[in-house]
Amino acid sequence: MLTEMTSQSWGMAPSTHTPLGQPLEWDTPMYKLAVGQLDAAAQVMNLQPNIWHRMRTPQRALLVSFPFRRDDYDTVETVFGYRVMHMNTMGPGKGGIRYAANVDLGEVTALAMWMTWKCAVMKLPFSGAKGGLRIDPTHLSAAELQRLTRRFTAEIIDVIGPEMDIPAPDLGTNEQVMAWIMDTYSAQKGHAVPGVVTGKPIEIGGSLGRKEATGRGVVTCMLEALRMIDLDVAGTTVAVQGFGNVGSVSARLAARAGAKVVAVSDVHSGIYNPGGLSLPDVEAWVAEHRWLEGYPHADPISNTEILELLVDVLIPAAVENQITAENAPHVKARLIVEGANGPTTMEADEILASNDVLVVPDVVANAGGVTVSYFEWLQSRQQFMWSEDEVNSQLERLMKEAFASVAATSKERGVSLRMAALILGITRVAEAKRRRGVFP
Ligand code: NAD
Repeated sequence: MLTEMTSQSWGMAPSTHTPLGQPLEWDTPMYKLAVGQLDAAAQVMNLQPNIWHRMRTPQRALLVSFPFRRDDYDTVETVFGYRVMHMNTMGPGKGGIRYAANVDLGEVTALAMWMTWKCAVMKLPFSGAKGGLRIDPTHLSAAELQRLTRRFTAEIIDVIGPEMDIPAPDLGTNEQVMAWIMDTYSAQKGHAVPGVVTGKPIEIGGSLGRKEATGRGVVTCMLEALRMIDLDVAGTTVAVQGFGNVGSVSARLAARAGAKVVAVSDVHSGIYNPGGLSLPDVEAWVAEHRWLEGYPHADPISNTEILELLVDVLIPAAVENQITAENAPHVKARLIVEGANGPTTMEADEILASNDVLVVPDVVANAGGVTVSYFEWLQSRQQFMWSEDEVNSQLERLMKEAFASVAATSKERGVSLRMAALILGITRVAEAKRRRGVFP
């Protein structure tokens, strides 16, 4: 049942302020993007205002600051960390932890909100959560990274756990970081608790196929979307921004599916070969030299040029806010598959739509990671191992189902794939909220 909006409702207030006009603590560009998307979907869906308003702010946001000792022993820095639970309606919190120099509460809150819609679109029994540490990990020694991770885990230990909130890797973190979180948590509990994190190494209960899962999901979506626009994958040209976990696996699997990956980039620079890159060769170069720079069998290309290359498919797989009102008119790809979270602004979305560029949004395109995290969590709790084939085939099945329901909603309602995915995710969460009611 719909209730009337009042003059104090969110619909009448600036979008990142409370109904009474006070600014919100997490009001940053990335939060504005996530809330702007929610608001737009809420209007299209005619969402009940009570529920809409509840969805705009996180249920719990933990901000910690703690001392971090550098290897020289005398230097002790204060580091800021966050763990946000968007809402606990659908089950335990689920979402990655990112380490990056500019992480803030707004960014982590936006990412937690996207996790809510993502889990709901995939029908996973999780609520959206996310964490972050404001530090650049690329300048840390392994010992520093370990100390930092263990102290951060100790600071957030009261709000994480296999039944409460389960972190995973994200930008700047990896399976080793997850292993340290699991070990620190387990030491406090007095027994091994593998279900406290996902994306951990196989040796301590990680899942086969988890490391590749996000990229595998991106490529599954790419293949489904190519079918929608009648493009054959054989010979389709692809550019990938970001060559970390998501970008490198997306590039490798796109090439394996028959596409021609012509350009990839990392935080420093990119490489371009119109004849197609040999991905095993590029990965071997990065394993040895860490960065793409200097790779001999391609031309250098900048991180901004890669977005405007003449290719069929663009996969942004680095950071947010990359395709904006400024560069969207120059995007030549026919299809964008969002490996990263929040790479496209709302203004850019409109420009891309008017230029007939199809965008597969992050909440579906990069959902492969959390889907296999769900499989890993199940395996950890049941102390049971799935085979890699089983993981990959269940992942592919769920990704195809989710893509098909998003595409069907898009067609039925005449809206973009992003709007369709948001409508699907938000509807499922709203329905669950209605069923659970309000306490007390
Ligand atoms: P990663 O740290 O493994 O790799 C990030 C890559 O992006 C690196 O190549 C880095 O050099 C590059 N990069 C960093 N900053 C950049 C910048 N300003 N411009 C261009 N390139 C830059 O991280 P990841 O796990 O691959 O995550 C990448 C994106 O995918 C993030 O938006 C993350 O939230 C999203 N994502 C990751 C997962 C996962 O399972 N890891 C799941 C869903 C979504």
